[in-house]
Amino acid sequence: MGDEEIQKMVTLLLSRATMLAQHCPACGTVLFEQGGRIICPSCGELEVREEGQEEKGKEEEREKEQEGGGDEEVLRRKRSELIAELEGERDLDKVLRILEAVQRIDSILGGRR
Ligand SMILES: [Zn+2]
Repeated sequence: MGDEEIQKMVTLLLSRATMLAQHCPACGTVLFEQGGRIICPSCGELEVREEGQEEKGKEEEREKEQEGGGDEEVLRRKRSELIAELEGERDLDKVLRILEAVQRIDSILGGRR
């Protein structure tokens, strides 16, 4: 685990993210949950689907996902969450990461039209 991952973990924890008991399927780094999003400090935000795993505190997210419908709706909602988060964010690193995530969502959504 590099300094960058540690730095990101610190940033996540400082921004009220919760450390999960799960690990990233891609790199094995411990995952964080923040505002219903699952974040790998190394890979970034993950799209995590329910797979019958025990996940504390994820009931709320599950409900939100269900009422929304398709994954495009999920992306739009996450985009709004990110923008809302951006407004109060003063940490430049985090601002950049949020912007990057928003850009990525835009490109995914844009690619579908
Ligand atoms: Zn990862």
